[in-house]
Amino acid sequence: MALLKIAQIGNPILRVRAEELTRDELLAPETQRFIDDLVETMRDATGAGLAATQVHVSKRIFAVEVKDNPRYPYKPNVPLTIVVNPVIEPLGRETFDNYEGCLSVPNLRGMVPRFAEIRITGWDREGNPLDRTIRGLTAGTFQHEADHLDGFLFVDRVADPKTFCTWAEFDRYHRKAFVERIVPFIQRMGG
Ligand code: ZN
Repeated sequence: MALLKIAQIGNPILRVRAEELTRDELLAPETQRFIDDLVETMRDATGAGLAATQVHVSKRIFAVEVKDNPRYPYKPNVPLTIVVNPVIEPLGRETFDNYEGCLSVPNLRGMVPRFAEIRITGWDREGNPLDRTIRGLTAGTFQHEADHLDGFLFVDRVADPKTFCTWAEFDRYHRKAFVERIVPFIQRMGG
């Protein structure tokens, strides 16, 4: 396995809509190896998720995993999930404000409205159909990763640019209020 280089904001690859995979492409040994590298890179960088476009591969694949993440200690744990050719559909109109960060946007966080409940369909890494309902803060993580495959970054979705802050200033001035608001939301939504 290998650690991959993570593209940073400004790199045009982050702004291109990634391509769908065929089942044959997905099952090819090089794609399966790539998925292993994607997961290893996400874990090494302590990301909650990582999209293929972020490691310079313009294909519709992302990974999500949260295991007591030190970057986001309030985030509920999520088992490793690989999604290929994802399609996201909001369930209901409820949204919540999520203070997001991104491995491709160094040292910046900002408040992004996300749907509170989504259905995600696509394939797993073996090409089997995947169909899940995802709720709460975890739904925000999946929307963030799917956005990458369409060439969007969280900075495009920030409703109020005044919410932008560095990680240190988030901890200093915004973390407490955010955690106080988001923890009951996670409890209510179960995710
Ligand atoms: Zn990201």
